[in-house]
Amino acid sequence: MGLFKKRDYIRITPSPDSNEETMQQKPFVPDGSWEKCPSCHKALHKKELGTERTCHHCGYGFRIGAKQRLSLIVDEDSFEVWDTDIAFKNPINYPDYEKKISIAKENTGLDEAVLTGKAKIGGFDVVIGVMDSRFIMGSMSSVVGEKITRAFEKARFLNLPVIMFTASGGARMQEGIMSLMQMAKISGAVKRHSEAGLLYIPVLTDPTLGGVTASFAMQGDIILAEPQTVIGFAGRRVIEQTIRQKLPDDFQKAEFLLEKGFIDKIVPRTELRETLTLLLSIHQGRE
Ligand SMILES: [Zn+2]
Repeated sequence: MGLFKKRDYIRITPSPDSNEETMQQKPFVPDGSWEKCPSCHKALHKKELGTERTCHHCGYGFRIGAKQRLSLIVDEDSFEVWDTDIAFKNPINYPDYEKKISIAKENTGLDEAVLTGKAKIGGFDVVIGVMDSRFIMGSMSSVVGEKITRAFEKARFLNLPVIMFTASGGARMQEGIMSLMQMAKISGAVKRHSEAGLLYIPVLTDPTLGGVTASFAMQGDIILAEPQTVIGFAGRRVIEQTIRQKLPDDFQKAEFLLEKGFIDKIVPRTELRETLTLLLSIHQGRE
């Protein structure tokens, strides 16, 4: 079986001198002043991204934290945070899960992967939820499910619309089936909110995947998305391997989903606040 025999390769180790030479030939670029757009792959200077952190080539909105998102959307000092003290559980005793949670808490300054509460947008009262992909990929834990469910239930009692910014890799695997059960639990609350005749607008941001797409992200009255957002259930590679076919390049992009009727409108981040204010004003029958 000569075919499988390990070949002998010659190892070339560059000398320290030649390394230094190439280093000197490179132009000096200060660290962290350029970023590559994950969607169109063009290089952008930090200043070009602006406070909204959007790519001016393709419109893609870079991933931002929940607090930064709130500062772009809600009226100043209007956000009242809810339910930050829900007890954490490790339902299937997943190893090192507690440690992972405390690191995520420390890195983001959040209690979980979603922030919920009451706020004003363009003067209109709303219940708002903002997921944060920096917190274990915005995955849906029991606490995330409970916070979102409570947000919908409270909105129903307060007679308020719900605006939900999704950013999630899907279910939180560290919680096994408990995570998947959140889909049904939240869906029930969304349904009751809807039956009360109240408005629900999900805004899909990059990425919105798995159990979040398969539940509350797609259950809105008006579904908005940011440009070039990846939206889907299973990942691209998994589908390609299963159906043994190559998928189109724009597959699972907001633009493709709009064309197929899954979402209602793609709104650039810079126009989101304005669009939401308009939708809220139409819904309330005000000018
Ligand atoms: Zn771009």
